[in-house]
Amino acid sequence: MEMLEIINLSKYYGKVSVLKNISLKVKEGEFIAITGPSGSGKSTLLNIISGLDKPTDGKVFINGEDIHKFKDNKLTKFRRKNIGFVYQFYNLIPVLTVKENIILPALLENKNYDEKHFYSLIETLNLKEKLNSLPNEISGGQQQRASIARALINKPKILFADEPTGNLDSKNKKNVMKILKNYNEKYNQTILIVTHDMSLAKMTNRIIVIEDGKIKEEKRVGK
Ligand code: ADP
Ligand code: MG
Repeated sequence: MEMLEIINLSKYYGKVSVLKNISLKVKEGEFIAITGPSGSGKSTLLNIISGLDKPTDGKVFINGEDIHKFKDNKLTKFRRKNIGFVYQFYNLIPVLTVKENIILPALLENKNYDEKHFYSLIETLNLKEKLNSLPNEISGGQQQRASIARALINKPKILFADEPTGNLDSKNKKNVMKILKNYNEKYNQTILIVTHDMSLAKMTNRIIVIEDGKIKEEKRVGK
């Protein structure tokens, strides 16, 4: 089954064309890396296909649902239940502790959180000692790992991550890729990440190269 289908997507900012007629199908359980030069439209694409931003033209189906047809309220709920998003610049809530940030999507969705799942996330992401800290009391790398835990807490059907390892040292980079790979394999979770790191891109199933708002090339990676 297609988990994600993008049909003739385009995006203009004023008169500037940033995405040009992009179409793409992604099956459930695929792990995809999006690469390409800075300014080529990778973040814009990720924001639109995850429902954070609207396209100028075209459609995005997630799990069969035309997400840009939803009213705001319904889209918020749909996103919380089905979509995980790791922001390039973390977007943690500054007045909440690391733990509160991570479990917030679970509390909003279920008024509760899965403690076992929470502890396995913070164990793998090396956050045990920082749970009671505020975001401005921890490093950029730790904030990024907290934002990854937050994106995974609801076990989303599909995970989008915009340069999720951009601010990590090589050890934590490996840990993050390991956890993503593990989620991909264990839960058949569909994952799309933007990355410049080819050694990470090669751990996925398919590499998509974006250039000047278009898909320039697609490569399958051996499983
Ligand atoms: P990438 O993530 O590949 O570096 P982006 O998607 O961030 O690229 O940006 C693609 C192009 O769109 C760039 O030229 C950028 O300047 C432009 N752009 C992005 N966001 C906006 C915005 N909100 N308003 C105007 N132009 C934008
Ligand atoms: Mg970007």
